[in-house]
Amino acid sequence: MATFSATDFDNHEQVVFCNDAKTGLKAIIAIHNTHRGPALGGCRFWAYPNEDEALKDVLRLSRGMTYKAAMAQLNLGGGKSVIIGDAKKDKTPEMMIAFGKYIEHLNGLYITAEDVGTTTQDMGFIRQSTHHVVGLADTPGGSGDPSIFTGYGVYLGIKASVKHKFGEDSVKGLRIAVQGLGHVGMNLVERLSAEGAELVVTDINQDSVAYASSKFNAKAASPDSILATDCDLLAPCALGGGLHDQTIEKLRCKIVAGAANNQLAHPDHGEALRQLGILYAPDYVINAGGLINVTYEGPSYSRDKVINHVDKIYTTMLEIFETANKQNLATNIACDQIAEQRFHLNKQ
Ligand code: NAD
Repeated sequence: MATFSATDFDNHEQVVFCNDAKTGLKAIIAIHNTHRGPALGGCRFWAYPNEDEALKDVLRLSRGMTYKAAMAQLNLGGGKSVIIGDAKKDKTPEMMIAFGKYIEHLNGLYITAEDVGTTTQDMGFIRQSTHHVVGLADTPGGSGDPSIFTGYGVYLGIKASVKHKFGEDSVKGLRIAVQGLGHVGMNLVERLSAEGAELVVTDINQDSVAYASSKFNAKAASPDSILATDCDLLAPCALGGGLHDQTIEKLRCKIVAGAANNQLAHPDHGEALRQLGILYAPDYVINAGGLINVTYEGPSYSRDKVINHVDKIYTTMLEIFETANKQNLATNIACDQIAEQRFHLNKQ
Protein backbone atom coordinates (compact mmCIF):
# COMPACT_ATOMS: atom_id res chain seq x y z
CA MET A 1 0.00 0.00 0.00
CA ALA A 2 1.65 3.24 -1.18
CA THR A 3 1.26 6.19 1.19
CA PHE A 4 3.69 8.98 0.19
CA SER A 5 2.85 8.45 -3.48
CA ALA A 6 -0.90 7.94 -2.94
CA THR A 7 -2.99 10.25 -5.17
CA ASP A 8 -4.63 11.82 -2.14
CA PHE A 9 -1.46 12.18 -0.04
CA ASP A 10 -1.16 15.90 -0.92
CA ASN A 11 1.63 16.87 1.47
CA HIS A 12 0.19 15.28 4.62
CA GLU A 13 2.40 16.04 7.62
CA GLN A 14 1.90 12.74 9.33
CA VAL A 15 0.02 9.46 8.91
CA VAL A 16 -0.18 7.06 11.84
CA PHE A 17 -1.14 3.40 11.47
CA CYS A 18 -2.52 2.03 14.74
CA ASN A 19 -2.63 -1.70 15.44
CA ASP A 20 -3.73 -3.10 18.79
CA ALA A 21 -3.85 -6.90 18.66
CA LYS A 22 -5.54 -7.19 22.05
CA THR A 23 -8.69 -5.26 21.06
CA GLY A 24 -8.53 -5.85 17.29
CA LEU A 25 -8.10 -2.11 16.62
CA LYS A 26 -6.87 -1.26 13.15
CA ALA A 27 -6.95 2.49 12.57
CA ILE A 28 -5.30 5.25 10.56
CA ILE A 29 -4.86 8.81 11.82
CA ALA A 30 -4.07 11.35 9.09
CA ILE A 31 -2.77 14.83 9.92
CA HIS A 32 -2.80 16.98 6.81
CA ASN A 33 -1.73 20.43 7.91
CA THR A 34 -1.22 22.09 11.30
CA HIS A 35 -0.11 25.58 10.22
CA ARG A 36 -3.25 27.18 11.70
CA GLY A 37 -3.39 24.96 14.80
CA PRO A 38 -3.90 21.37 15.94
CA ALA A 39 -5.59 19.09 13.45
CA LEU A 40 -9.22 18.50 14.37
CA GLY A 41 -11.38 15.94 12.59
CA GLY A 42 -13.76 13.14 13.41
CA CYS A 43 -13.17 9.42 13.76
CA ARG A 44 -15.00 7.33 11.16
CA PHE A 45 -15.74 3.65 11.89
CA TRP A 46 -16.38 1.96 8.56
CA ALA A 47 -16.16 -1.51 6.98
CA TYR A 48 -13.86 -0.55 4.11
CA PRO A 49 -13.58 -3.21 1.38
CA ASN A 50 -9.77 -3.03 1.64
CA GLU A 51 -6.99 -1.06 3.34
CA ASP A 52 -6.29 1.11 0.29
CA GLU A 53 -9.88 2.41 0.43
CA ALA A 54 -9.46 3.22 4.13
CA LEU A 55 -6.24 5.13 3.46
CA LYS A 56 -7.77 6.99 0.51
CA ASP A 57 -10.79 8.00 2.58
CA VAL A 58 -8.82 9.21 5.59
CA LEU A 59 -6.46 11.25 3.39
CA ARG A 60 -9.30 12.90 1.45
CA LEU A 61 -11.28 13.65 4.59
CA SER A 62 -8.26 14.95 6.48
CA ARG A 63 -7.28 17.31 3.66
CA GLY A 64 -10.87 18.58 3.52
CA MET A 65 -10.70 19.45 7.22
CA THR A 66 -7.71 21.74 6.64
CA TYR A 67 -9.68 23.67 4.02
CA LYS A 68 -12.83 23.67 6.16
CA ALA A 69 -11.09 25.07 9.25
CA ALA A 70 -9.33 27.75 7.18
CA MET A 71 -12.56 28.91 5.52
CA ALA A 72 -14.38 28.98 8.87
CA GLN A 73 -11.55 31.18 10.26
CA LEU A 74 -10.72 28.65 12.99
CA ASN A 75 -7.27 28.33 14.51
CA LEU A 76 -7.21 24.67 13.62
CA GLY A 77 -5.54 22.40 11.13
CA GLY A 78 -6.95 19.41 9.30
CA GLY A 79 -6.91 15.79 10.35
CA LYS A 80 -9.17 12.78 10.44
CA SER A 81 -9.07 9.17 11.58
CA VAL A 82 -10.67 5.95 10.44
CA ILE A 83 -11.14 2.68 12.30
CA ILE A 84 -11.50 -0.27 9.97
CA GLY A 85 -14.44 -2.52 10.84
CA ASP A 86 -18.19 -2.86 11.11
CA ALA A 87 -19.33 -0.40 13.77
CA LYS A 88 -22.33 -2.59 14.65
CA LYS A 89 -20.36 -5.83 15.09
CA ASP A 90 -16.72 -4.98 15.82
CA LYS A 91 -16.76 -1.88 18.01
CA THR A 92 -16.05 -2.33 21.73
CA PRO A 93 -15.36 0.16 24.55
CA GLU A 94 -11.89 -1.40 24.96
CA MET A 95 -11.12 -0.73 21.30
CA MET A 96 -12.09 2.94 21.64
CA ILE A 97 -9.99 3.28 24.81
CA ALA A 98 -7.04 1.71 22.95
CA PHE A 99 -7.58 4.16 20.10
CA GLY A 100 -7.47 7.04 22.58
CA LYS A 101 -3.97 5.95 23.64
CA TYR A 102 -2.70 6.43 20.09
CA ILE A 103 -4.23 9.92 20.04
CA GLU A 104 -2.58 10.67 23.39
CA HIS A 105 0.83 9.75 21.91
CA LEU A 106 0.38 12.62 19.44
CA ASN A 107 0.43 15.12 22.31
CA GLY A 108 -2.45 17.25 21.07
CA LEU A 109 -1.39 17.49 17.43
CA TYR A 110 -4.63 15.63 16.56
CA ILE A 111 -8.02 16.11 18.26
CA THR A 112 -10.75 13.62 17.49
CA ALA A 113 -14.56 13.89 17.42
CA GLU A 114 -17.63 11.95 16.33
CA ASP A 115 -18.14 10.94 12.70
CA VAL A 116 -20.00 8.28 10.70
CA GLY A 117 -20.04 5.08 12.77
CA THR A 118 -19.00 6.69 16.07
CA THR A 119 -21.13 8.27 18.79
CA THR A 120 -20.82 10.67 21.69
CA GLN A 121 -20.66 7.56 23.91
CA ASP A 122 -17.58 6.38 21.97
CA MET A 123 -15.99 9.80 22.53
CA GLY A 124 -16.57 9.21 26.24
CA PHE A 125 -14.57 5.94 26.03
CA ILE A 126 -11.78 7.68 24.10
CA ARG A 127 -11.78 10.37 26.81
CA GLN A 128 -10.67 7.69 29.31
CA SER A 129 -7.25 7.60 27.65
CA THR A 130 -6.85 11.11 26.18
CA HIS A 131 -8.09 14.70 26.67
CA HIS A 132 -7.72 15.37 22.96
CA VAL A 133 -11.34 14.61 22.10
CA VAL A 134 -14.38 16.87 21.57
CA GLY A 135 -18.07 16.20 20.96
CA LEU A 136 -18.77 15.03 24.51
CA ALA A 137 -22.46 15.45 25.16
CA ASP A 138 -22.67 14.54 28.81
CA THR A 139 -19.90 16.59 30.34
CA PRO A 140 -20.32 20.17 31.60
CA GLY A 141 -19.56 22.41 28.61
CA GLY A 142 -20.20 19.55 26.16
CA SER A 143 -21.37 20.93 22.82
CA GLY A 144 -23.99 18.26 22.05
CA ASP A 145 -25.28 17.22 18.63
CA PRO A 146 -23.26 19.04 15.92
CA SER A 147 -25.74 18.23 13.13
CA ILE A 148 -28.15 20.92 14.30
CA PHE A 149 -25.47 23.55 13.58
CA THR A 150 -24.44 21.83 10.36
CA GLY A 151 -28.10 21.95 9.28
CA TYR A 152 -28.32 25.64 10.16
CA GLY A 153 -25.12 26.41 8.23
CA VAL A 154 -26.34 24.49 5.18
CA TYR A 155 -29.60 26.44 5.32
CA LEU A 156 -27.61 29.73 5.36
CA GLY A 157 -25.41 28.53 2.48
CA ILE A 158 -28.55 27.71 0.51
CA LYS A 159 -29.92 31.21 1.20
CA ALA A 160 -26.64 32.75 -0.03
CA SER A 161 -26.73 30.58 -3.16
CA VAL A 162 -30.32 31.62 -3.86
CA LYS A 163 -29.39 35.28 -3.34
CA HIS A 164 -26.48 35.01 -5.76
CA LYS A 165 -28.27 33.00 -8.43
CA PHE A 166 -31.80 34.43 -8.32
CA GLY A 167 -31.40 37.67 -6.33
CA GLU A 168 -33.95 36.33 -3.82
CA ASP A 169 -33.82 36.65 -0.02
CA SER A 170 -36.11 33.70 0.63
CA VAL A 171 -36.48 30.10 -0.49
CA LYS A 172 -40.28 30.53 -0.49
CA GLY A 173 -41.82 28.84 -3.52
CA LEU A 174 -38.51 27.40 -4.72
CA ARG A 175 -38.42 23.70 -5.60
CA ILE A 176 -35.67 22.07 -3.55
CA ALA A 177 -34.61 18.41 -3.82
CA VAL A 178 -32.95 16.89 -0.72
CA GLN A 179 -30.97 13.66 -1.02
CA GLY A 180 -30.54 12.00 2.39
CA LEU A 181 -32.77 12.59 5.42
CA GLY A 182 -30.35 11.80 8.23
CA HIS A 183 -29.27 14.05 11.08
CA VAL A 184 -28.50 17.00 8.82
CA GLY A 185 -30.95 16.39 5.95
CA MET A 186 -34.03 16.22 8.18
CA ASN A 187 -32.98 19.32 10.09
CA LEU A 188 -32.55 21.15 6.79
CA VAL A 189 -35.93 19.99 5.47
CA GLU A 190 -37.61 21.36 8.58
CA ARG A 191 -35.99 24.78 8.10
CA LEU A 192 -36.75 24.94 4.37
CA SER A 193 -40.33 23.84 4.89
CA ALA A 194 -40.85 26.52 7.56
CA GLU A 195 -39.83 29.12 4.97
CA GLY A 196 -42.22 27.80 2.34
CA ALA A 197 -39.96 25.84 -0.02
CA GLU A 198 -41.54 23.17 -2.18
CA LEU A 199 -39.66 19.99 -1.20
CA VAL A 200 -38.83 16.77 -3.01
CA VAL A 201 -36.98 14.27 -0.82
CA THR A 202 -35.40 10.85 -0.87
CA ASP A 203 -33.63 8.40 1.40
CA ILE A 204 -32.87 4.69 1.28
CA ASN A 205 -34.71 4.55 4.59
CA GLN A 206 -38.43 4.70 3.72
CA ASP A 207 -39.45 5.63 7.27
CA SER A 208 -37.50 8.87 6.97
CA VAL A 209 -39.18 9.66 3.66
CA ALA A 210 -42.62 8.94 5.14
CA TYR A 211 -41.83 11.22 8.12
CA ALA A 212 -40.71 14.11 5.88
CA SER A 213 -43.79 13.68 3.70
CA SER A 214 -46.26 13.74 6.56
CA LYS A 215 -44.53 16.34 8.72
CA PHE A 216 -43.17 18.73 6.10
CA ASN A 217 -45.45 18.07 3.14
CA ALA A 218 -42.47 16.88 1.05
CA LYS A 219 -42.97 14.92 -2.15
CA ALA A 220 -41.16 11.56 -2.23
CA ALA A 221 -38.72 10.64 -5.00
CA SER A 222 -36.73 7.42 -5.44
CA PRO A 223 -33.00 7.43 -4.57
CA ASP A 224 -32.26 6.73 -8.25
CA SER A 225 -34.26 9.66 -9.59
CA ILE A 226 -33.45 12.47 -7.13
CA LEU A 227 -30.41 13.82 -9.02
CA ALA A 228 -32.48 14.18 -12.19
CA THR A 229 -35.31 16.00 -10.41
CA ASP A 230 -36.34 19.21 -12.15
CA CYS A 231 -35.73 21.75 -9.39
CA ASP A 232 -34.18 25.09 -8.46
CA LEU A 233 -31.73 23.59 -6.00
CA LEU A 234 -30.35 20.14 -5.21
CA ALA A 235 -29.06 19.52 -1.67
CA PRO A 236 -26.89 16.38 -1.45
CA CYS A 237 -27.05 15.35 2.23
CA ALA A 238 -26.24 11.63 1.96
CA LEU A 239 -22.76 10.37 1.09
CA GLY A 240 -19.98 12.06 -0.88
CA GLY A 241 -18.70 11.44 -4.40
CA GLY A 242 -22.20 11.63 -5.94
CA LEU A 243 -21.33 14.23 -8.60
CA HIS A 244 -19.32 12.72 -11.46
CA ASP A 245 -19.36 12.40 -15.25
CA GLN A 246 -22.40 10.11 -15.34
CA THR A 247 -24.56 12.00 -12.81
CA ILE A 248 -23.73 15.59 -13.75
CA GLU A 249 -25.20 15.20 -17.21
CA LYS A 250 -28.52 14.16 -15.65
CA LEU A 251 -28.85 17.16 -13.33
CA ARG A 252 -31.87 19.43 -13.85
CA CYS A 253 -31.13 21.95 -11.10
CA LYS A 254 -29.69 25.48 -11.10
CA ILE A 255 -27.82 25.21 -7.80
CA VAL A 256 -26.09 22.37 -5.91
CA ALA A 257 -25.78 23.19 -2.20
CA GLY A 258 -25.83 20.49 0.47
CA ALA A 259 -24.12 18.94 3.48
CA ALA A 260 -22.29 15.89 2.13
CA ASN A 261 -18.49 15.94 2.30
CA ASN A 262 -16.51 15.54 -0.95
CA GLN A 263 -19.57 15.89 -3.21
CA LEU A 264 -17.45 16.27 -6.34
CA ALA A 265 -15.79 12.98 -7.31
CA HIS A 266 -12.93 15.09 -8.77
CA PRO A 267 -12.22 18.85 -8.55
CA ASP A 268 -12.73 19.10 -12.35
CA HIS A 269 -16.41 18.35 -11.80
CA GLY A 270 -16.75 21.86 -10.36
CA GLU A 271 -15.86 23.22 -13.80
CA ALA A 272 -18.31 20.78 -15.40
CA LEU A 273 -21.08 22.25 -13.23
CA ARG A 274 -20.02 25.80 -14.13
CA GLN A 275 -20.17 24.98 -17.84
CA LEU A 276 -23.77 23.88 -17.35
CA GLY A 277 -24.60 27.13 -15.55
CA ILE A 278 -25.10 25.30 -12.24
CA LEU A 279 -23.91 27.20 -9.16
CA TYR A 280 -21.99 24.96 -6.77
CA ALA A 281 -21.69 25.84 -3.05
CA PRO A 282 -18.32 24.38 -1.91
CA ASP A 283 -19.11 21.58 0.53
CA TYR A 284 -16.47 22.25 3.16
CA VAL A 285 -17.73 25.84 3.57
CA ILE A 286 -21.45 25.16 3.70
CA ASN A 287 -21.14 22.19 6.09
CA ALA A 288 -18.74 23.75 8.64
CA GLY A 289 -21.42 24.43 11.30
CA GLY A 290 -20.75 21.21 13.21
CA LEU A 291 -17.00 21.82 13.28
CA ILE A 292 -17.55 25.39 14.45
CA ASN A 293 -19.78 24.11 17.26
CA VAL A 294 -17.26 21.61 18.69
CA THR A 295 -14.52 24.23 18.78
CA TYR A 296 -16.55 26.19 21.35
CA GLU A 297 -16.78 23.16 23.64
CA GLY A 298 -15.57 23.79 27.16
CA PRO A 299 -16.66 25.41 30.42
CA SER A 300 -17.61 28.68 28.67
CA TYR A 301 -19.60 27.02 25.84
CA SER A 302 -22.16 29.47 24.51
CA ARG A 303 -24.79 28.57 21.94
CA ASP A 304 -25.13 32.25 20.97
CA LYS A 305 -21.42 32.51 20.15
CA VAL A 306 -21.68 29.38 18.01
CA ILE A 307 -24.70 30.78 16.14
CA ASN A 308 -22.88 34.10 15.53
CA HIS A 309 -19.93 32.21 14.08
CA VAL A 310 -22.08 29.89 11.92
CA ASP A 311 -23.94 32.99 10.62
CA LYS A 312 -20.74 33.97 8.80
CA ILE A 313 -21.23 31.08 6.37
CA TYR A 314 -23.74 33.30 4.52
CA THR A 315 -21.28 36.11 3.72
CA THR A 316 -18.35 33.76 3.16
CA MET A 317 -20.38 31.93 0.55
CA LEU A 318 -21.33 35.18 -1.23
CA GLU A 319 -17.66 36.24 -1.24
CA ILE A 320 -16.62 32.93 -2.80
CA PHE A 321 -19.24 33.27 -5.54
CA GLU A 322 -18.13 36.83 -6.32
CA THR A 323 -14.42 35.89 -6.37
CA ALA A 324 -15.12 32.92 -8.65
CA ASN A 325 -17.10 35.18 -11.00
CA LYS A 326 -14.36 37.81 -11.13
CA GLN A 327 -11.63 35.23 -11.71
CA ASN A 328 -13.71 33.23 -14.17
CA LEU A 329 -13.16 30.10 -12.12
CA ALA A 330 -15.29 27.25 -10.83
CA THR A 331 -16.45 28.03 -7.29
CA ASN A 332 -14.61 25.02 -5.78
CA ILE A 333 -11.31 26.12 -7.35
CA ALA A 334 -11.71 29.76 -6.28
CA CYS A 335 -12.53 28.54 -2.78
CA ASP A 336 -9.54 26.15 -2.62
CA GLN A 337 -7.27 29.06 -3.55
CA ILE A 338 -8.65 31.30 -0.79
CA ALA A 339 -8.26 28.49 1.76
CA GLU A 340 -4.71 27.67 0.62
CA GLN A 341 -3.67 31.29 1.15
CA ARG A 342 -4.98 31.00 4.69
CA PHE A 343 -3.05 27.87 5.63
CA HIS A 344 0.02 28.68 3.51
CA LEU A 345 0.08 25.45 1.60
CA ASN A 346 3.54 24.85 0.24
CA LYS A 347 2.60 23.38 -3.14
CA GLN A 348 5.36 21.45 -4.85
P1 NAD B 1 -26.58 10.45 8.52
O1 NAD B 1 -25.87 9.15 8.45
O2 NAD B 1 -27.37 10.81 9.73
O3 NAD B 1 -27.58 10.61 7.26
C1 NAD B 1 -27.29 10.20 5.97
C2 NAD B 1 -28.61 9.78 5.35
O4 NAD B 1 -28.38 9.50 3.98
C3 NAD B 1 -29.19 8.52 5.99
O5 NAD B 1 -30.54 8.76 6.33
C4 NAD B 1 -29.07 7.47 4.89
O6 NAD B 1 -30.11 6.50 4.91
C5 NAD B 1 -29.14 8.34 3.64
N1 NAD B 1 -28.57 7.74 2.44
C6 NAD B 1 -27.42 7.03 2.32
N2 NAD B 1 -27.23 6.68 1.03
C7 NAD B 1 -28.26 7.20 0.34
C8 NAD B 1 -28.63 7.20 -1.03
N3 NAD B 1 -27.90 6.57 -1.95
N4 NAD B 1 -29.75 7.84 -1.41
C9 NAD B 1 -30.51 8.48 -0.48
N5 NAD B 1 -30.21 8.51 0.83
C10 NAD B 1 -29.11 7.89 1.23
O7 NAD B 1 -25.47 11.56 8.22
P2 NAD B 1 -25.54 13.10 8.55
O8 NAD B 1 -24.90 13.33 9.86
O9 NAD B 1 -26.93 13.61 8.29
O10 NAD B 1 -24.55 13.68 7.43
C11 NAD B 1 -24.97 13.78 6.08
C12 NAD B 1 -23.77 14.17 5.23
O11 NAD B 1 -23.25 15.41 5.68
C13 NAD B 1 -22.59 13.17 5.30
O12 NAD B 1 -21.98 13.13 4.05
C14 NAD B 1 -21.68 13.79 6.32
O13 NAD B 1 -20.33 13.42 6.11
C15 NAD B 1 -21.87 15.27 6.04
N6 NAD B 1 -21.61 16.11 7.20
C16 NAD B 1 -22.29 15.94 8.36
C17 NAD B 1 -22.01 16.75 9.44
C18 NAD B 1 -22.76 16.60 10.74
O14 NAD B 1 -22.67 17.49 11.59
N7 NAD B 1 -23.51 15.53 10.94
C19 NAD B 1 -21.03 17.75 9.34
C20 NAD B 1 -20.37 17.92 8.12
C21 NAD B 1 -20.67 17.09 7.06
